[in-house]
Amino acid sequence: MATPTPHLTPPEQRPVGSLRGVGPALAEKLAKLGVSQVQDLLFVLPMRYEDRTQVSAIGSVRPGARYVVEGEIQLTEVAYRKRRQLLCRITDGSGSLTLRFFYFSGAQQAGLKRGTRIRCFGEVRRGPLGLEIVHPEYRYIAASADAEAAPLEEVLTPIYPTTEGVPQTRLRALIEQALRSIVDGAESRDDRAGVRDWIPADMLADLSLPSLVDALTMMHRPPRDAHLGELLSGHHPAQRRLAFEELLAHQLSLRLLRQATKDDPAHPLLDKVSLESRFLESLPFALTGAQRRVLKEVDADLVADRPMVRLVQGDVGCGKTVVAAAAAARAVGSGLQVALMAPTELLAEQHAKNFERWFRTLDIPVALVTGSLPARARRSALESAASGDIKLIVGTHALFQESMEFAELGLVIVDEQHRFGVHQRLSLREKGARGGKLPHQLIMTATPIPRTLAMTAYADLDVSVIDELPPGRTPVKTVVLPETRRDEIVERIHKQVLEGRQAYWVCPLIDESEELRYQAAEDTAKSLQEALPEVRVGLVHGRMPTKEKERGMGLFKDGKIGLLVATTVIEVGVDVPNATLMVIENAERMGLAQLHQLRGRVGRGAHESACVLLYGGKLSEMARARLAAIRETNDGFEIARRDLELRGAGELLGTRQTGLAEMRVADLVRDSDLLPAVQAAADKLLKHNAEAVAGLTRRWVGSGERYGRIG
Ligand code: ADP
Ligand code: MG
Repeated sequence: MATPTPHLTPPEQRPVGSLRGVGPALAEKLAKLGVSQVQDLLFVLPMRYEDRTQVSAIGSVRPGARYVVEGEIQLTEVAYRKRRQLLCRITDGSGSLTLRFFYFSGAQQAGLKRGTRIRCFGEVRRGPLGLEIVHPEYRYIAASADAEAAPLEEVLTPIYPTTEGVPQTRLRALIEQALRSIVDGAESRDDRAGVRDWIPADMLADLSLPSLVDALTMMHRPPRDAHLGELLSGHHPAQRRLAFEELLAHQLSLRLLRQATKDDPAHPLLDKVSLESRFLESLPFALTGAQRRVLKEVDADLVADRPMVRLVQGDVGCGKTVVAAAAAARAVGSGLQVALMAPTELLAEQHAKNFERWFRTLDIPVALVTGSLPARARRSALESAASGDIKLIVGTHALFQESMEFAELGLVIVDEQHRFGVHQRLSLREKGARGGKLPHQLIMTATPIPRTLAMTAYADLDVSVIDELPPGRTPVKTVVLPETRRDEIVERIHKQVLEGRQAYWVCPLIDESEELRYQAAEDTAKSLQEALPEVRVGLVHGRMPTKEKERGMGLFKDGKIGLLVATTVIEVGVDVPNATLMVIENAERMGLAQLHQLRGRVGRGAHESACVLLYGGKLSEMARARLAAIRETNDGFEIARRDLELRGAGELLGTRQTGLAEMRVADLVRDSDLLPAVQAAADKLLKHNAEAVAGLTRRWVGSGERYGRIG
């Protein structure tokens, strides 16, 4: 036997093109499966398995299942039934079966001649001539049924997710080749031959998880008696081992990112002129206990000479913005600039207004920078930001643009973090890096996520939670109704408005086109106005010119409009305490977090408030459960927990952006019980095993393209 030639590059870094028979074209197709290194092939896991370890008697097979059968060819003929096809009849004494080929070559036809023994595999189904297999996989076997000559599969056959241009058999062969070169190589002593198991053996033993090689071998070559149920549901120890490793790698990369940030210098925000306390004194209310606690945490970070990267989490209306404004006052009081970034123009405008109002008495002007700003206003805003004349700049994504420059940013505030990715956060940070000092970052989110998930998704952040609402809020009563009861609701709006209250009507989400969505909003406003002639009905949607939108919102805020019809632009930030009724159309199509946010627009004053969730058509089981979650509780955390259970983590975090949705093996919901161990393992490796940290992040996260700078 020839000894394998040692590879010069460690296998972990060998491109897939180095495998036999993989040229540039195939390599490109494999890239679509996320495979660029040979080792990546190992982590393409089977979706299911087939048992080809035993031959079934033809007489015993049943339609609808897959079998290996062997038999002698009795007859082969080309038939014309609608299409030209090759029919081949085999028998093994217990019964007979037809093989049907629509695509076949002359050589194939010649090979399948009477008297030849073949072994086939495929799904048996009922055909016009009795049981049949269409396009079976097949091979010839010796006439003397000699097992040596034609050994059966010894392990279950893996079926992989394929991509166009890489057929199943090809992919399986490649993965098998990778296994042979990497996994089998691991048993040799040569370090360069095998795949490295970066997780220390004692750690694995504590968790009762198998080694990497054992796990991979189990996944790709499970023995006949493997626990298929566990393998398919993702609960097999082999899979949990891989999920653990992947979660660990993500955790490590986020922690490295955080560490890198903490190593950078920042301006301590000492606020010698006490703008922060002057701001707090100017407020018409006292901070809640939770706000005070969180602000204390924020302030402690801000006076340090390392950048703060802190997430302030809290339910809609808990008063995050006020805390952020206090931090902003501190930055301005330290002679530096503040950028506040919001996910929509409307919200940016709202923030700008609030900040203007709050900071007027302190004589701090505010600039607004959005995409739809007229050129002149925009230029002047950019100039005053660049010169440092304006200290508070509020905007949308526009703040990321090249042309946007700051004189000296001390603090970046990002609202509604789940809509911005880690990338964007980093890019704004880089923008602020002047004279080597980085701005502090405060991220506000109303997406309350369970703690273990937060620690995983936001491992690059410190987290503060405002878990208390300002006093005087009334819980919102929520009902779920079919659209057919629209008339009753219209009557209810009428009554509310006559009592001096106001209402929102949120229009359905139409996926087909933005145009249609705005059209629908306009139509709804029109028909509601007709149904409610005594009520003034207003309309705001994202396509309107800013001025018009502002006017509509302004009129509603001043109580001049009784019913505001809107698209989901009002989802965040709008604050009208006199609004006590919210109607949401097609609620069954919206995310729970979004519904909760929308509902948070009412219940802000002393009057009893209600939210009506309208649905169209028949509700699916899932939709019913989700709407029930919203109806039954006003607690954002509880809603998030149920949402997580019902829909999985990707949806909840809103995210391809966090990188978490792109996990290959792990599933944050299914594997959530692993998270505490992942945290502990990350602590240990970061302290004692830099090589493993590098190896794991390289293997699972790549060399930094996903999270920007990784140590
Ligand atoms: P969030 O950003 O968390 O949704 P906001 O900061 O916008 O909440 O606050 C919501 C509303 O509650 C605003 O009108 C704000 O002025 C008011 N508010 C904030 N904190 C308090 C408080 N401690 N007492 C009373 N009202 C408050
Ligand atoms: Mg808010």
